[in-house]
Amino acid sequence: MDLYGQQIGNLVEQLSNLPGIGAKSAQRLAFHIINMPEEQVKRLTDSIEKAKKNVHYCKECCTFTDGEICPICANEKRNHKVIMVVENTRDMAAYEKTGKFDGVYHVLHGAISPMLGIGPADIKLRELMVRLAGDVSEVIIATNKNLEGDATAAYISKLVKPMNIKVSRIASGVPVGGNLEYIDEVTLLRALEGRTVL
Ligand code: ZN
Repeated sequence: MDLYGQQIGNLVEQLSNLPGIGAKSAQRLAFHIINMPEEQVKRLTDSIEKAKKNVHYCKECCTFTDGEICPICANEKRNHKVIMVVENTRDMAAYEKTGKFDGVYHVLHGAISPMLGIGPADIKLRELMVRLAGDVSEVIIATNKNLEGDATAAYISKLVKPMNIKVSRIASGVPVGGNLEYIDEVTLLRALEGRTVL
């Protein structure tokens, strides 16, 4: 039943395509947007358009940025010889929030999953290998503690070991199956400090 006409229906449909937004939330958001002052709506749509147009992968670590390289890679005070490998930008943000890691990151944008047909070529591994050919002394693997994260860690450690680079994985503290982004900072910190050499 079409209660409100096509335009609202379209807006609701677009919003409900977003992750975590069900039909009810989409409807609530749609009416909220319609009630917003026009200027605020413009700021919202502008920010979406600009971000979509200008944000791309950092040339070094593959995180999202609107510059050529991200602020962390551009920071000369960071230790560029120590690379922490994470599955996604949200995990990177979680580690960054602890404020205790002064190295740099590498964002894979996924994990190896034979079940889902995601292989090494489908994540940013080639980019990591290019970086490892430079001056790198340690790789800390911080993929999730689940099947995919384990497979990815094993694959990376096999590649890195012959390169004479120290490779470790964060271990204790991260619950099995727990996603890094939902773990509190203390737990993350403990996990970082308790990493095991592979
Ligand atoms: Zn970067």
